Amino acid sequence: MNLGVGAYRDDNAKPVVLDCVREAESRIAGKSVMEYLPTNGNAGFIKHSILLAYGDDSVAVADGSIAAIQTLSGTGACRLMADFMHRFAPTAKVYIPVPTWSNHHQIWQDAGCEERLFRYYKAETRGLDFDGMLEDMENAEEGSFFLLHACAHNPTGVDPSVEQWRQMSQVMKRKQLFPFFDMAYQGFASGDCERDAAAIRIFVEDGHKVGCSQSFAKNMGLYGQRIGCFSIMCASPEEAQRVESQMKLIARPMYSNPPLHGAAIVSAILGDPVLKKQWFGEVKTMADRIIDMRAQLRLALEKSGSVLKWNHVTEQIGMFCFSGMTGEQVDALRVDHHIYMTRNGRISMAGVTSSTVGRLASAMHEVTK
Ligand code: PMP
Repeated sequence: MNLGVGAYRDDNAKPVVLDCVREAESRIAGKSVMEYLPTNGNAGFIKHSILLAYGDDSVAVADGSIAAIQTLSGTGACRLMADFMHRFAPTAKVYIPVPTWSNHHQIWQDAGCEERLFRYYKAETRGLDFDGMLEDMENAEEGSFFLLHACAHNPTGVDPSVEQWRQMSQVMKRKQLFPFFDMAYQGFASGDCERDAAAIRIFVEDGHKVGCSQSFAKNMGLYGQRIGCFSIMCASPEEAQRVESQMKLIARPMYSNPPLHGAAIVSAILGDPVLKKQWFGEVKTMADRIIDMRAQLRLALEKSGSVLKWNHVTEQIGMFCFSGMTGEQVDALRVDHHIYMTRNGRISMAGVTSSTVGRLASAMHEVTK
């Protein structure tokens, strides 16, 4: 049972190509040329992508004060942000949550940025260390960057509530901290792409100038197409033009220009209200299957005779369950039960199916007795 990789599987543990993606591909087939895109990518894609993040009614999108560029998926967007930060705020520190997607550390380190950590997850409660996080924000130097997972935090599955996001936004505003949202799972947390963008919208409402990384790897199942978007909200359309020009200056010597196909797929879907609606439905189907697997896993664990608490299995959200199992327990799952996951006890819930959830629960009970 492979529960390591953060990729969606259907209830037969098979990879999925969404129907809306198949339809978009059939519309594109034979029509697109193979010419280079400009350095900033496909203009239609960028427009649809930022509307999805900031909202159809976003004033900043409408008046052109968001600088944005197509990227090599979410990783590429984070890397461009890190390089941008290193170039234009060379003494600023980037605050990264503990824990986080491990590549975040490497991305900002390789870009030459100085990293600081902030408290995020509390092992005792398997929930958010809200007080610790606010304290770290209070103590951060003015002008620091904070890397925030917009929704479905990887690896913990623990997200702040709407009220907690509001409080974080207030503290960060007062302290003049720059919020950078990594949004790799829009739609995967609640099943609703709009709801999952709540954090960004709250910060924007409060007057922050946010940065954002978007990925269509998970929510459109476009993993290997490497399609994403990096944006920074600016004070005016003129400033946005200057910032976008600097983004291009960073991208150009790195990869010259981004790939065609993924951008064409996303813009075909988001640009057609019928296909977009279908996509919203398909994201919800994926999210609902994961939510259902969480419920089944918790129930099976509670029925297995385990005396441990498993409420976090259903309370955490998104693709991952931060199970609380130790490295030794994960080793035992691998050796004794052929169940594979990362050694921090993170289960990719997207890899669990209705025919394997029972075996997973009894194996987890075995190794945590
Ligand atoms: N950010 C987070 C939090 C992630 O979990 C991932 C994927 N594991 C990414 C960014 C980047 O993914 P990709 O480059 O495939 O879009």
